[in-house]
Amino acid sequence: MNRIYCCFPGGKHKALTMSYDDGRVEDRRLVKIFNQYGIKGTFHLNSGLFDRGERIDPEEIRTLYAGHEVACHTVTHPTIARCPLPEVAREVLDDRRWLEERTGYPVRGLSYPNGSLSEEIEKLLPACGIRYSRVVGSSDSFALPENPYRWQATCHHNHQLMELGEQFLGLFKKQYLYLMYVWGHSYEFTDRDNWELMESFCRMMGGKDDIWYCTNIEFMDCMDDFKRLQFAADNHFVYNPNARDCFISVNDGPAVQIPAGKTVQL
Ligand SMILES: [Zn+2]
Repeated sequence: MNRIYCCFPGGKHKALTMSYDDGRVEDRRLVKIFNQYGIKGTFHLNSGLFDRGERIDPEEIRTLYAGHEVACHTVTHPTIARCPLPEVAREVLDDRRWLEERTGYPVRGLSYPNGSLSEEIEKLLPACGIRYSRVVGSSDSFALPENPYRWQATCHHNHQLMELGEQFLGLFKKQYLYLMYVWGHSYEFTDRDNWELMESFCRMMGGKDDIWYCTNIEFMDCMDDFKRLQFAADNHFVYNPNARDCFISVNDGPAVQIPAGKTVQL
């Protein structure tokens, strides 16, 4: 019987994703660094706060974040665990509608404003079209998220970023999938005068053959696509009903690409 393992696109087993909140003007400098080194990230924006100084211009959302993901951070950044639940739904749905008008794609990610969440909110989010939501703090781990609605990053960029990056680069055991997830706010680099930290990190991490550089939602979609693959009972063929190609490894051999909409003999 074939042994099947899920792989990231291209058959890779390591993924790196970044997540930055609030849409302040420093995002321009951060995106430039990401783009220079081929790093991808997600930017969580508050649609109701663009008139508060030092935010990017809403007109530049589509171009500035091209190739990255734009995601929700609620309309007005309230501490949502203290709000009535219908208000939370409105904060998320109105944010999605406004952002989608400017991006042209379904906006399905969220990061909790002020890191505020509750079990009720977690249960509400799928009905609001949200596929994942990021909490605050650092897990110091490269494990995949068990609960996408309590998705904790590996680290904030001010928490052992270079050390964790080096550890991540050294991971080689192909029987595991690994994710490094970094979060923060771009204005923190200006506040602490440590832009060099992110420059060094991206220089160190970029351009590696065994790393998949992805946005938060691309990561979730890859995991979801794999779960929808339809394997024969004896694992001798598989049908991919998704709109994207999937990659699997068979008996620890080189990755097999399963084209979208196709059946492949294994
Ligand atoms: Zn925020």
